[in-house]
Amino acid sequence: MAFKEKLVVKNIGLLISGDLENPVLDANTVIAIDGLITEIGKGKDCNLEEATQIVDAKGTTVCPGLIDSHVHPVAGDWTPRQSQLNWIDSTLHGGVTTMISAGEVHMPGRPKDIVGLKAMAVASQRMFENFRPSGVKVHAGAPVIEQGMVEEDFKELAENGVKLLGEVGLGSVKAGEEAQKMVGWARKYGIQSTIHTGGPSIPGSGLIDKDVILDADADIIGHINGGHTALPDEQIVCLCEQCGRGIEIVHNGNSRAALLALRTANELNQLERVILGTDGPAGSGVQPLGILRTVAMLSSLGDINAETALCFATGNTARMRDLDCGLIEVGRSADFVIMDKAQHTAGKTILDSIQLGDLPGIGMTIIDGLVRSQRSRNTPPATTLPETVF
Ligand SMILES: [Zn+2]
Repeated sequence: MAFKEKLVVKNIGLLISGDLENPVLDANTVIAIDGLITEIGKGKDCNLEEATQIVDAKGTTVCPGLIDSHVHPVAGDWTPRQSQLNWIDSTLHGGVTTMISAGEVHMPGRPKDIVGLKAMAVASQRMFENFRPSGVKVHAGAPVIEQGMVEEDFKELAENGVKLLGEVGLGSVKAGEEAQKMVGWARKYGIQSTIHTGGPSIPGSGLIDKDVILDADADIIGHINGGHTALPDEQIVCLCEQCGRGIEIVHNGNSRAALLALRTANELNQLERVILGTDGPAGSGVQPLGILRTVAMLSSLGDINAETALCFATGNTARMRDLDCGLIEVGRSADFVIMDKAQHTAGKTILDSIQLGDLPGIGMTIIDGLVRSQRSRNTPPATTLPETVF
């Protein structure tokens, strides 16, 4: 064998691709070698030999691992925001295999001077690269930009491995023009940006309205539905129409505003811009099921097919964030969530149940081709569970 690990997932009842254009694949088997997908097809046509791990999906649903586009991690699997341990492990049990930091803003004593914030960003990036809580991929090291930063600071951050900015607007840079200059420098050096949208999140932060967001032109309109306080409806519609950037909807926002943003993106025929986050940990706590709940909310109340809503939390985010996961495609990371309709849901199928607003039951998660968790301790129990054959 020229490889170390070969995973075969067989007897898949429904295979969700993560790709809006073609959300359901006509295949029942996925094979991964050393953490990367190598084959997708019918079992009879696939090379099943020399597997080191076989998972029998037992007719259940396989979907790319969910991506939370907006979290605020601090250190390892601990958050000081609600003094909780193991929130990332708990979120893995909600199907999330990748998280994107929108700033490590809850770090006690977080430095706000320029040398300090740069040092913390580099340290956070390294810490989460070196240690993945329960295997979850946490992309962190997202500095909150402050007044006085110059182009050289962004160059230095990029050269030292920083790939994200924390939410623009949480620091002292709150004016459109100033933000635009720094977002531009970040982009020049390959650093992605997200801007806070709406009213202040906690005492000390401020309002960021549509004019600032349009000027700043960050890559992602962070929590367009507010975190928690949403902008007026006409501003949300205007942002969807006039700013071509990512439309991020979060669990910890205003649900009515979330539905408005979704409907507007749908009317514009731009659902590929919609991505999902939780914005946790936060004042509302941590949300292990936050991404699943947002998928079910948007699907049931926003009249969106469940398979489409699942793409918001997988392929859309992967493409917008330039991640190697989030899609069932040869060459992508073998990050999967295996689920089934919850016991006693009124839905006839898993997709039906999500469209009725129920959460699916998770039976297993897989990251980089390795089984990371089995029956979820957090979701309602799945009707049928997958099994590891060996
Ligand atoms: Zn925010």
